[in-house]
Formats: sequence, C-alpha cells, structure tokens
Amino acid sequence: MENQRTLYNDLDSILYTREQLQEAVSALGARITRDYAGKKPVLVCILKGASVFFCDLIRQIDLPLELEFMAVSSYGASTKSSGEVKLVKDLDRSILGRDVIIVEDIVDSGMTLNFLKKSLISRGAASLRIAALMDKPARRVAPLTVDYSCFEIPDAFVVGYGLDYNELYRNLPDVGILSPRIYAGEE
Ligand code: 5GP
Repeated sequence: MENQRTLYNDLDSILYTREQLQEAVSALGARITRDYAGKKPVLVCILKGASVFFCDLIRQIDLPLELEFMAVSSYGASTKSSGEVKLVKDLDRSILGRDVIIVEDIVDSGMTLNFLKKSLISRGAASLRIAALMDKPARRVAPLTVDYSCFEIPDAFVVGYGLDYNELYRNLPDVGILSPRIYAGEE
C-alpha cells in the first residue's frame, strides 16, 4: 500500500478505476464469446503492456482457446514512439488456418499493430482481429481498424494496469494519466 501511494503521487488523475476496467473487460469477453461461438481462437498477448488486460480478458471468454505471446519494442524509456517496430519475441506455434485475436494494451500511431497484423496474416491465419484496451484514434498515423476496444481515450500518456513508463507503474490496478513532470526533460 505504501508503494502504491507513492506511485499514485506521480499521476495527474485516474482515468479508469479498477471497477470500470473490470466492467469493460467483462463486457468485451462476453462479446468475443458470442462472436467466436463454435470456434477455438488463438489469443496473442503483446508483451509486456497487454499482460494484465490479457489475463483478465481470457478469464471472461467462455470458449476453448489457446494462448500465445509476442513482444515488440518501439518505445524504450520514452513517451514517444521511435516509429521503428522490432520483433523481440515470436510465437511458439503455427497459426496457419487459425482464428487469431491480437490483444494489445493501447493503439496510438497504429504502427505496432500494422506491423503485427501484416506479420500474422502472412503466416496464414484464417482470420485476424484486434482487441485493444484503449484506443487513441486522434493519434493514428498508419491506417488500422481496431475490431474491439474498451475505451477511446484522449491524447495523454497513461500508465497502470500493465502500461508502463520506463518499466514502472505496470502494477497500478487503475489506469491514470502520468504527470508530465515525471517525463519532463525527456529528449
Ligand atoms: P503505436 O505503434 O500504436 O504508436 O504504439 C503502441 C504502443 O505504444 C503500445 O503498445 C504501448 O506500448 C505504447 N503506448 C502508446 N501510448 C501509450 C501511453 O499512453 N502509455 C503507455 N504506457 N504506453 C503507450
């Protein structure tokens, strides 16, 4: 608790409480359960930011499903994307002929998901959809359809519920707007 009080001091405000997150994730799980009835989708978690969302989402989907994990890097210790996406960890198994859902924390420029989408389609997925916890449509650079998103958010840098700044704040149970004084002076 002491630790969390310190983390909360770095926020300007809380954007979504844990209750709001749980409600939205549970509604999304029910929707995916309906949309994929009779199927056995593969859910691909994009590490590390989507990990908390992913763990909650899969437990709200009442279907046989398989899990995969991928990691890409584009940000480093910064609040701005470098614009260059690198694959850091690949899938363990083939997705040929499978119904795939990419689970991502947040869509900003869209470059990360554009890269991932192309990569997974080229491996022969039967279908591919994107589920994102948050979407910042105003920031989009690459054209991208987000099939499922829990929240559309304004252009602010958010942390918590898996999202980090410089690897910190992922363990906050709520999503908050990080105070710009924390990253002031960043290049
Ligand atoms: P994109 O390629 O769409 O510009 O960036 C997507 C990635 O950037 C996300 O997966 C996330 O890791 C990071 N990102 C974008 N906006 C935010 C934000 O507001 N907070 C945090 N912590 N990460 C963000």
